[in-house]
Amino acid sequence: MNTITRLAVVFAAVVTAASVQAQTYPEREITMIVPFAAGGPTDTVGRLIAEKMAEDLGQPIVVENVGGAGGTVGAAQAAAAAPDGYTILLYNISMASSAALYKDLPYDTATAFDYVGLITDVPMTVIARKDFEPTDVPSLIAYVKENADTITMGNAGIGGASHLCGILFQQAIDAPIVPVPYKGTGPAMTELLGGQIDMMCDQTTNTAEQIKGGGVKVYAVTSPGRLEILPDVPTTAEAGLEGVSIVVWHGLYTPAGTPAEVNERLSAALQVALADPDVAGRLNELGTAPSPVDDATPAALKARHEAELARWKPIIEAAGVYAN
Ligand code: ASP
Repeated sequence: MNTITRLAVVFAAVVTAASVQAQTYPEREITMIVPFAAGGPTDTVGRLIAEKMAEDLGQPIVVENVGGAGGTVGAAQAAAAAPDGYTILLYNISMASSAALYKDLPYDTATAFDYVGLITDVPMTVIARKDFEPTDVPSLIAYVKENADTITMGNAGIGGASHLCGILFQQAIDAPIVPVPYKGTGPAMTELLGGQIDMMCDQTTNTAEQIKGGGVKVYAVTSPGRLEILPDVPTTAEAGLEGVSIVVWHGLYTPAGTPAEVNERLSAALQVALADPDVAGRLNELGTAPSPVDDATPAALKARHEAELARWKPIIEAAGVYAN
């Protein structure tokens, strides 16, 4: 056998092994990295879909919370994992904004991941501890301006959706607030409920039930229209917080180089999860807009990923905020 023939045989063997692996996939437990703390918004979405996807795939999906630095620590762990379908990453809008915010990420956001599909779009809410003095957005703006530098706002680290929303909030009222970073807004919510911090801008997946139960005070929602689950709460635009407009998309990724058949299999399982009435019902109850199943596909997530990478760069540059 000459060298070229030998190489062709080796190549064919590798391709065959990959497609056999893709056909029998998954044969063991899958790890889903959620790059934020347990109990927070991303964790809530992750655990909801993981359970149904696991049923469809016939193997358990274990959620691993790897919080820190707006999700980039967990994303780095996923980027470095073997591209074999046994490590998947659930990340959100911060995937794109972090690429602009962090100058020294240990992965290249444009090339480090393959795509499985879009999951859901989640609006945010501007909230405060329940005994925070301001009663509505105009009094909130006046109060924050008067007490700037002493008001604390929890977030999930630089690049977290809560951090992005905080930047927009400060730009809208033109006053500084003291950011308090956590590994996710799950633990930040615990401190807000305990009165250790004053404010937060966080996703309805973490706030809707606390708002309804009176555990926190709500001022506005950051979506273009009011939410069915919180009909009396004005939008930021209605209430005078122009520009504080943000909806948090979520996507499921694999490390770059994962066989296309594996990404397709995961996408099919994601579609099953999103079509499940219990999952869809819970996502709706939490104020989110589940992605149509046609968008739970590699192509749809790739398109969103690329569009959002282009979108956040100029916004972050204009804000002049960088992490490192
Ligand atoms: N997604 C984060 C979390 O789950 C919160 C954020 O991005 O602000 O904690």
